[in-house]
Amino acid sequence: MDRKGSRSSRRRPLKKRPPPNRHQIEQEQVSTSTLAKKLKSGENIDVIVNPSLGYTIINFIDVFSSLSNYVKCKTCGGDVKFGQSSIRGLGFKLVVECASCDSKSINSCPCTDNHSYEINRRLVFSFRMLGIGGQGIKKFCGLMDLPKPGGQTTYDALVKNIHCAASSVCENSMKSAAKEEINLTAEADNIEKPRGLTVSGYATRSKKGLFSLYGVASLIGYHSGKVLDVAVKSAYCNECESMKTKANTAEYEEWNRRHQCDVNHEGSADKMEVDAVREMFSRSQELHDVKYLNYVADGDCKIFKDIAESNPYDESVKKKERIERVPSGKNESLDDLIWQIAPKTNFSNAKINEIAAFVATTIFNDGHRSLLDILRILNVSIGPRTHDMCVEEDVSRVSIGNVD
Ligand SMILES: [Zn+2]
Ligand SMILES: [Zn+2]
Repeated sequence: MDRKGSRSSRRRPLKKRPPPNRHQIEQEQVSTSTLAKKLKSGENIDVIVNPSLGYTIINFIDVFSSLSNYVKCKTCGGDVKFGQSSIRGLGFKLVVECASCDSKSINSCPCTDNHSYEINRRLVFSFRMLGIGGQGIKKFCGLMDLPKPGGQTTYDALVKNIHCAASSVCENSMKSAAKEEINLTAEADNIEKPRGLTVSGYATRSKKGLFSLYGVASLIGYHSGKVLDVAVKSAYCNECESMKTKANTAEYEEWNRRHQCDVNHEGSADKMEVDAVREMFSRSQELHDVKYLNYVADGDCKIFKDIAESNPYDESVKKKERIERVPSGKNESLDDLIWQIAPKTNFSNAKINEIAAFVATTIFNDGHRSLLDILRILNVSIGPRTHDMCVEEDVSRVSIGNVD
């Protein structure tokens, strides 16, 4: 019996899946999560600068109707016209039309493997780095007479992509920082392998009126001055807040079944930092295969007391008095970096605050060049101008006194 034939005859008829609609194409997340997984598994993801990439804003109708006065079809010598098709957000296909030949189309920008235009994820990422979200992007596009960016669902999907890319690059950065810290500690103590590391805690939070909404805490290596771990605590969920009035209705029950809550902190907001630091101590062995055995703290430190009480390891964590202010200059810039990306004056949800913490951490550890890594994971091509800006940012960050 023909096994092949029998197998195919048993196969259930394939349900024809409808092709993705134009919005779904821009919402694809597979290409980013695939690269993020590769990075997390230790694979090297190289950033390649593409010298032929560079955007220019033009007034489309004017420029291309003039252009058609100057050019002829290469196949038949007839007149050509230019148009647009497959318009999605800022991406489109440039269509070259000739009356006697097949029309040709050219992508206005590079696309991911799954056909989404890179310009749309680039736009959302760039504005996020400036602390601006979907509403701001809409205003920008309108004022610039650019096409409308995608709707809310597309925006949310792009934010998810950015979150995925930023978290994988951040994790990678903290792993390298931990290795560096281990080596520097070994050198300082003149031993092969240190039993544990010395860290200091750093915390910042955003408030709405009197209420603390989000707290970001990080642990910084004593010798490297780099962030070894970061945790974001959220005591607030915008959706929960707005659904409060509908409690006990059918609509509420339905919403509640699907709701992914932002809140990951229970109890008093004052304990956000303490809980975050405790969490980072308890996962140090899993994350970096290392214990934090010394904590740099001033006299009466609440966080240190809590760590000592929670006893995260089978040996005690010791307090190291702060002799000189350990990288406090750098700490301030970590604070600046976080709230530039998720400004305290605007409401940002937990995902945005996490993106801010992850990106700030990678810039703090490795400079603005790490933005290129995030773009790479986002499947966004890097042209010379993006590359040069990141390099220049790092140079100007070192020199003091730069103002806008
Ligand atoms: Zn032709
Ligand atoms: Zn919620």
